[in-house]
Amino acid sequence: MDERNKLEVFLETLFLEHGPEEFVENLSFLMGAFVVSKDGIVLGASEAFLKMVAYERDTLCGMQAVQLVLDRHKYRLTEIFAKNHTEPFRIDLLSRDGSPLHTRVSPHLFYVQNEEYRLAEFIDITETQTAEVDLVRSEEKFKAIFSHGAVGIARIGLSGKWLEVNEKLCEILGYAEEEFDALSFADVTHPADLAKDTALIMETLANKRDSYTLEKRYVRKNGEIIWGRLSISLIRDSQSKPSYIVALIEDISDLKFAEIEMRELNEKLERYSFIDGLTKITNRRMLDDSIAKEWNRSLRAKTALAFIMIDLDHFKNYNDHYGHPQGDECLIRIATILNNIANRSSDVVARYGGEEFAILAPHSNIEQAARLAEICRAAIEAERIPQATTGDTHLLDIVTVSIGVSSLVPSETNSAAELIEAADRRLYKAKDAGRNRVCSN
Ligand code: GH3
Ligand code: MG
Ligand code: MG
Repeated sequence: MDERNKLEVFLETLFLEHGPEEFVENLSFLMGAFVVSKDGIVLGASEAFLKMVAYERDTLCGMQAVQLVLDRHKYRLTEIFAKNHTEPFRIDLLSRDGSPLHTRVSPHLFYVQNEEYRLAEFIDITETQTAEVDLVRSEEKFKAIFSHGAVGIARIGLSGKWLEVNEKLCEILGYAEEEFDALSFADVTHPADLAKDTALIMETLANKRDSYTLEKRYVRKNGEIIWGRLSISLIRDSQSKPSYIVALIEDISDLKFAEIEMRELNEKLERYSFIDGLTKITNRRMLDDSIAKEWNRSLRAKTALAFIMIDLDHFKNYNDHYGHPQGDECLIRIATILNNIANRSSDVVARYGGEEFAILAPHSNIEQAARLAEICRAAIEAERIPQATTGDTHLLDIVTVSIGVSSLVPSETNSAAELIEAADRRLYKAKDAGRNRVCSN
């Protein structure tokens, strides 16, 4: 006697002993189950089944079994019963309140005194099925993003080989999908960015990081260089061992090239800028250029070249008292005064440093330059820009400057550096001698 027959005999005995209703209830190993007659009438159901479909036993017994099934699955039940299937199948039941119930049903055919009956055992799989549907949906969503996304996506093996690439990535890198088989990640990476990218990948594989983003250059099939924003994520298996890498690659060439162009333009502007941003007079870079040019010109012409260095007196005190913005205003006023005085076309009035100015005066011997310097000093004094004395008796109550003057006829034995050095030295002499004065020897 095989297993099937044993079960049948067992069911028959139980059925005879208890009648159809008690019979199902007694099959304690069955959760939700009902018994139907050959013509599909429900004869009895287990407590669990009644709960499942929210029916009273009296209402349920006597109903056609197909009435408990969602319309689209009615044929399935009829078929199962007609063909005596014994394999489990999926069926959606309809509970009393109208809500559908996903179940897996196992039908058993048995005979009692040669009369045919069916026992159907139901397992509620609503939750499993919803989870499965969600999974399918998210997989579909992923597939949609993968194949039609605006970003290049690739699955890369741990050895650096491409396992899967999407259409967009093919477009970005200019290779056909099948060509990727012969390419490694390194093959499409610009040599200048390879070391950085490799180091990050190694760190990822060595468990030091799980992801990174990098702006890097790629080399397209046609040799064209493009900029991409790469986001790498390491995907692990259930034992958390690295499994493969997902790479998202976004083409940011337009942005990057615009950025580079802008930076180069700014650098150029700075390189070619001759003007001091604050005072709008010649800046230090331009002054250095002018000194070199004038030195050579004066060397050839054997004419004197003068250099005048001007430093504001106690300007730190001014700033501390009036604040930096007003200090800036003061510097602008001084620059304007100097610029108006040294107005020969060959004179160069420049901002030398923070609160230091310089005048390069060609064709000027030391007396002429000292005279010019004195005019400048006096003009600034006459401006009577208030200075804060705060009770300090050694401070004047107006802004003044100290000036060092030098002049040289350029030759093979002297240098522009000497000219500047002498002016600087005399400036400090003027400071030491009490400020607000010109020193020219
Ligand atoms: P001294 O008479 O010895 O020259 O005294 P000082 O206070 O001027 O001394 P020092 O040259 O050391 O200080 C210069 C000060 O000038 C320091 C700084 O606060 C100020 N300064 C330099 N550059 C600027 C600037 O661009 N704007 C303003 N507002 N202040 C500046
Ligand atoms: Mg100074
Ligand atoms: Mg100063």
